[in-house]
Amino acid sequence: MIAVPTGSGYRRQLYRDDAVVLRVQKLGESDRIITLLTRRNGRLRAVARGVRRTNSRFGARLEPFGHIDLQLAGSPEGVGSALHSVSQVEAVALYGKTFLTDYPRYTAASAIAETAERLTPVEREPSLRLFQLTLGALKALAAGDHAGPLVLDAYLLRAMATAGWAPAISECAVCGTAGRHAAFSVPAGGAVCPDCRPPGAAHPSPATLGLMRALTDGDWQVADSSESPIRRECSGLVAAHLQWHMERALRSLPLVDRRESS
Ligand SMILES: [Zn+2]
Repeated sequence: MIAVPTGSGYRRQLYRDDAVVLRVQKLGESDRIITLLTRRNGRLRAVARGVRRTNSRFGARLEPFGHIDLQLAGSPEGVGSALHSVSQVEAVALYGKTFLTDYPRYTAASAIAETAERLTPVEREPSLRLFQLTLGALKALAAGDHAGPLVLDAYLLRAMATAGWAPAISECAVCGTAGRHAAFSVPAGGAVCPDCRPPGAAHPSPATLGLMRALTDGDWQVADSSESPIRRECSGLVAAHLQWHMERALRSLPLVDRRESS
């Protein structure tokens, strides 16, 4: 559907959605551009006017990593480059507040938000699964039941699956033979059997691939009891796999503070 231009510009409509705030940028003296991952309208950027004034009603609700319910003005079909604007915001849960001063969780949240943005290169293309994963990961970070880096790696593995390139873990990435293969090759696509193992494949600890499997399946009992060197090796393989498939490396991933993961 294409909105019809009128004498006063493009037809604008009001619509509601709920969203995770991925990023906030300053715009001029008192406005902000908010990057949102919405439930029904995919990723979009919207202008929030006047939110940097001290008497702004909804400025505090538009901080990064919050789950918000909002009303937007603009064409839902997204004609042209006109930004939508935020006309109302209600807080559902402002997760960012709970880890604003907790560097490991804050950096993990930053990597989650950046990944969500990079996995949605086209604006206004709905991805309900990625929305749910992103919301769930931020909620888990705020709850603090699991170490931040584990929540991040579980998110990255599942987010990669929505993009169709999660690493193979329980079968050979090349020939598909089921089993717990010992070698891991990022260029080949994950775990590889002895017949398919390319030169330069890594040989991680079996516990590392076990942790990767647990994070993919949501087996937190196994994940929470994993040891620090295993977590670090798992994070390294997940990051290498992610960055192999993305054109540019994530800026926020090297900043993730993994010291708490002992
Ligand atoms: Zn094979």
